[in-house]
Amino acid sequence: MKEKKIMALADENIMNTYRRVPIALVKGEGARLWDANGKEYLDFVAGIAVCNLGHSHPNVVKAIKKQAKNLMHVSNLYYTRPQGEVASILTKHSFADKVFFCNSGAEANEAAIKLARKYAHENLGEDKFELITMKDSFHGRTMATITATGQEKFQFGFTPLLDGFKYVPFNDPAALEDAITPKTCGIMLEPIQGEGGVIIPDDRYLAKVRDICDRHRILMIVDEVQTGIGRTGKLFAYEYSGIKPDIMTLAKALGNGFPVGAMLATEEIARAFGPGNHASTFGGNLLAMAAAKATLETMLDEGVLENCGKTGEYFLSRLQALKDKHAIITGVRGRGLMLACPLAVEGADIVKKCQEKGLLINCTGGKTLRFVPPLIITEKDVELAVAILDEVMEGR
Ligand SMILES: *Cc1c(COP(=O)(O)O)cnc(C)c1O
Repeated sequence: MKEKKIMALADENIMNTYRRVPIALVKGEGARLWDANGKEYLDFVAGIAVCNLGHSHPNVVKAIKKQAKNLMHVSNLYYTRPQGEVASILTKHSFADKVFFCNSGAEANEAAIKLARKYAHENLGEDKFELITMKDSFHGRTMATITATGQEKFQFGFTPLLDGFKYVPFNDPAALEDAITPKTCGIMLEPIQGEGGVIIPDDRYLAKVRDICDRHRILMIVDEVQTGIGRTGKLFAYEYSGIKPDIMTLAKALGNGFPVGAMLATEEIARAFGPGNHASTFGGNLLAMAAAKATLETMLDEGVLENCGKTGEYFLSRLQALKDKHAIITGVRGRGLMLACPLAVEGADIVKKCQEKGLLINCTGGKTLRFVPPLIITEKDVELAVAILDEVMEGR
């Protein structure tokens, strides 16, 4: 089908909730994508930090194919082997002892909110239900997760929101401690704010949050939906802080493009959930587990984290040089391959010009260019992307 026809069919029949770029993509391989007209793109979006091993990674494709032939879905009324296998990889490589599987980031955060409330209800007192989250955070689009999200633009028109949420500025331990009341049961935050514009807190911030949680006997929930699965150069971003959270949520890159989410917790906290307390029909689906297992094994065994750290540092230095050359870039920040450049101008036109020249990038909050390429990119890919950015910014 020709590109125009693909777009017209979608626009006629799909609800208008996305501001889409007018290209229709049909094929991907590694860090490259092709549209319906055969035009090639270097992809520095990766399905929004999802395809961390690159598009259609052979290990993931093979695992999904093999599982699809055998068995795709049986529900959680029964045991299946891949669920336990994926859960054991996640617990082995994290602070967590137990995993709950679901299908998306919002669902993982919903599960975390429910678990925190249930744990507090049973262990801390029935009047402890309040969660403190951060301004400019992003936790998803369901009712509970837009409530947790500290940005009014995601909440506007959907009130009344859920009871029991409070917001404090990110990277401000004093404000956080001040906001705690006898009703507080936990704190939920991203180790690096993603949709908020790749906001990196001070090195000691997460440790201070941990300390506050310990002193007030409340739970620390980290939303690693975007930062997790290698994006920052470690499997999970909290590892940089030297602390352990109580609950962690994952999704985006966990299946390298196959929808899957997970909520992880320590044994003590996980015990607050018993049979019947929470569930998902598709959670831990066999295809999702096959994809997640192949993704995690590939990431851990094939030097992907090392490449992310090394190429990320290189990219950061090249962006720094670009900033020195172009005044419209007002900053450069990031960790691993989660990078951003705030601009003095709206980013939409830059994104469009890059796309015309064969580079896909994304803009958050209107003025911040965000780069979340596959973690398998090479220095040559970085050079190409920087050359296109340089050309597009010339004379602005
Ligand atoms: C993308 C994202 C979510 C929401 O994930 P969905 O799969 O779209 O529901 C939640 N938290 C963070 C930090 C995210 O980046």
